[in-house]
Amino acid sequence: MRKLQSAHGGKDGGTRSGNIEEDDVNLQITRKLEEKIKKAGGKVILTRSEDKDLASEQTDNRKKEDMKKRMEIMNGEQVDVFLSIHLNAYPDTNVKGAQVFYKADDQMSETFAKIVQKHLKQATGSGMEIKKGDYYILNNAKNIGILVECGFLSNPDDRDNLVKKSYQEKIAQALYDSIREYFRILDE
Ligand SMILES: [Zn+2]
Repeated sequence: MRKLQSAHGGKDGGTRSGNIEEDDVNLQITRKLEEKIKKAGGKVILTRSEDKDLASEQTDNRKKEDMKKRMEIMNGEQVDVFLSIHLNAYPDTNVKGAQVFYKADDQMSETFAKIVQKHLKQATGSGMEIKKGDYYILNNAKNIGILVECGFLSNPDDRDNLVKKSYQEKIAQALYDSIREYFRILDE
């Protein structure tokens, strides 16, 4: 079983550029990837499948409750691997490219990250390298997984590409190919 996470959603739109919201693009890519995995007979659990976060209405800290609920799903026993799918932003608008973050001191997470970065490089020409990630999702993960920043909304090239269905499809295919390769290595 593979686990996918499309980050943000609802009131938390994530990174924004003009009328483009990160969470919308995340969800598009995630749904495309979900379709590919299901078609191949794999099982997918989404932490969100629509434009909603996971917090209850009465909460005084939406972000925290949303993250906590996602973490519970992602740490489920039946999860083989998880992907947290995001878009990045940076003050220097020249910075671009898809980049994969892995869990510190986790060899399998690093191995998976390397595979995904390789496929994203082939598919999109990203010049980025994998990096140890200091994120809530990675720091609290019990299962093997990665956080993928599919590109920078702050960079004009990445932004133009990321809203295109064909580019989203390319990224989803690269992620799918990576998952296939990762499980092939596990089986060897
Ligand atoms: Zn994000």
